[in-house]
Amino acid sequence: MPVRCPVCNELITGLAVEERVILEAKRIPVIVPARCKNGHSVVLFVDRNFMVRDVEAAGEAIQESESGSAIDKAQKWIDSL
Ligand SMILES: [Zn+2]
Repeated sequence: MPVRCPVCNELITGLAVEERVILEAKRIPVIVPARCKNGHSVVLFVDRNFMVRDVEAAGEAIQESESGSAIDKAQKWIDSL
């Protein structure tokens, strides 16, 4: 399921959502945290059919107001993938 980052419009790939998490979720949609390849934290809202209903930027982790260290940290995280 192709999902695009709401911040930079990059495709978000490599999503690993365990079926069980969705099937056993008490509340639908299930909120699944993810990250685009530019390091934006996003949350996906996934329904019982594994369809992504909505995507939202999660907080402002990588916004320009953040310190450089947060960006470095995100970059290291990405590089380690
Ligand atoms: Zn992004």
